[in-house]
This record gives sequence, structure tokens and C-alpha cells, in this order.
Amino acid sequence: MRVLLLGKNGQVGWELQRALSVLGEVVALDRRRASTPYGELTGDISDLEGLRHTIRAVSPQVIVNAAAYTAVDMAESERDFAQIVNALASQVMAEEANQLNSWLVHYSTDYVFDGTGTTPWKETDNVGPVNHYGATKLKGEQLIQASGCKHLIFRTSWVYAARGNNFAKTMLRLAKERSALNVIADQVGVPTGAELLADVAVAALQQAWRKPELSGVYHLAPTGETTWHAYASYVIEFARSHGEDLVVEAVNPIATTEYPTPASRPLNSRLDTAKLRNSFTLHLPDWQSGVTRMLMEALNK
Ligand code: NDP
Repeated sequence: MRVLLLGKNGQVGWELQRALSVLGEVVALDRRRASTPYGELTGDISDLEGLRHTIRAVSPQVIVNAAAYTAVDMAESERDFAQIVNALASQVMAEEANQLNSWLVHYSTDYVFDGTGTTPWKETDNVGPVNHYGATKLKGEQLIQASGCKHLIFRTSWVYAARGNNFAKTMLRLAKERSALNVIADQVGVPTGAELLADVAVAALQQAWRKPELSGVYHLAPTGETTWHAYASYVIEFARSHGEDLVVEAVNPIATTEYPTPASRPLNSRLDTAKLRNSFTLHLPDWQSGVTRMLMEALNK
């Protein structure tokens, strides 16, 4: 099997480089031009004709898209560019996957929902993004579905990875610098590790390969739920109990309205994962186990 991975150096892309390697040959690209066995190719997905050429040159059985415009606040001002990367590039991938009779694996977000209520969102619930990033991601999903290609779209939330910066590492750094932290306590969601997102995509793809009727949209996040405030408190307590020298004394809960940002955020990011677990007979871990693992690496314990 030949797999084309786009966005290889993002949080999820990096983990996919590892996880996809058991499937076969992986041609992995970031946004730069690269020399490959299929010629010199661009991985810049905003170059729509270049992207089309790359896919045709590699002719993969599976396209995995880990690239996205993920700067939620900046998307409010770079509207057209966010739309090209998150929506129009997905359309090109889907059209080409359809031509090749290939699978397209793609990631999306709970930000396609409006964040009302307290019930975990099901795949069949009405969408209604509250920011432009969410709207572009939703358009990307819709264009993939309309293309008729075989696809697995995983909607997830609050992604972190051991590599690079993430919310938990930022809290650790601030806990060493400041005596008090103010953290949003009225947004509820589930921190999701890039490792889990990569591993589940591969496990699901292996099954869908033999059962094309599994093509569709799935919600993917660990079990449990938390708030940014409770997540920060968990990270700080963990670090302290593992001997980190922290100066922070108070982690204060604040409301979203006290921390204005260019893009609105949904309050309810809970995702119902029953469809994924039942369709693929998968077990999902609790969110703390992945966060603990990442912290052990970050703290070098
Ligand atoms: P990252 O921001 O870590 O990675 C995104 C990658 O896309 C980066 O490597 C970036 O490259 C690349 N990229 C951006 N624009 C282009 C382009 N024009 N051409 C090629 N590559 C490009 O995101 P994640 O790994 O966290 O996100 C993976 C998926 O999960 C995305 O679909 C995202 O929408 C979704 N998601 C993410 C959430 C989160 O909290 N992060 C929450 C819910 C869903 P560069 O570094 O060069 O800009």
C-alpha cells in the first residue's frame, strides 16, 4: 500500500509518520517542495494545482491530511486563506481520491458545533460553527462528503502532543513564573493526544479497507471531560507531586467572557464517541492517561 501524508510536521502529522509506517510506503510532505521517488513535489496544500499534481504523481491508495489552518483567532482576519487550506484543499484531495478510488483520511473539529447545552455531540447533531475556523473546517467536511470518495473524517477536540508547545506545557512554564494564574473554567472538553489520533486512524483504516461501508464521519476523543481550569490544575498538581519547583499558589477559574479573543469559542466541546467505538470495536482510554504520559516526557521523569 502507498500512503500520501500531508502536514507531516504538525502535532498529528508527526505521530502519523510513525503510525502509518506499518501500512506500507509512506510519502510524507510538509509545506515545502521535496524530492521524492515520484519527482520533486509540493506539499503546500494552499497551492491547489500543485496539490493536485502531487497526488497524481504519487497515486496513493490512501491520502492522509494532517495539514490545516489551525490558528483559530488569526482565521478571523485571514478568512480567504483559511478557507483555501481548510476547505478548498480538502476538495482537491477528495476529487483526486475519488478518481483514484483511494481513501481520504481527514481531521475535523468539535468547532463545527455551536457549543450549546451540556450533552456530548453526536455525528448526526445539527452543526453551527461560532467562528470562521469552524466554518472552514465544516466546509471541508461537506466538500469531502459531496465528492463521493471513500473517507474517514475524525472530529476531535483540544489536541496536544509531546512534541512542540501545548496548553499543558504553557501552564507548567507559567506555574514556574507566576504566583497566580487565571484559567477559563466554563469551556468543557476533552484533551486528545496526537498519538491517539494517529493510532486510531490507522486501526480504523485497516478495518475500513475491507469494509468500505465504514466510510463516514466519526467523533474521536478519550473518555471523561474537563475544563481548561481543571486541566491546568491537574497538570500543576501532577508536576508538584513529581518534585517540580513551582511558584504558583492560586489557579483561579475565570469565565470565557473575561478573556476576550478575536474568535468565539464553543462552551460545550464534549463529543459522543459511541459510533467510532461500536463501528470499529475500539476502546478509548481516559484523557488523564495520555496527558500523564506527555507530562512524564515533558518533565523527563
Ligand atoms: P498543527 O497546527 O499542529 O499542524 C497543522 C500542520 O498543518 C502544521 O504542520 C502546518 O505547517 C501545516 N500546514 C498549515 N498550512 C499548510 C499548507 N498550506 N500546506 C501544508 N501544510 C500546512 O495542528 P494539529 O496537528 O493539532 O491538527 C491536526 C488536525 O486536527 C487539523 O485538521 C485540525 O483542524 C484538527 N484539530 C485540531 C485541534 C487542536 O486543538 N489543535 C482541535 C480539533 C481539531 P506549518 O507548521 O508549516 O504551518
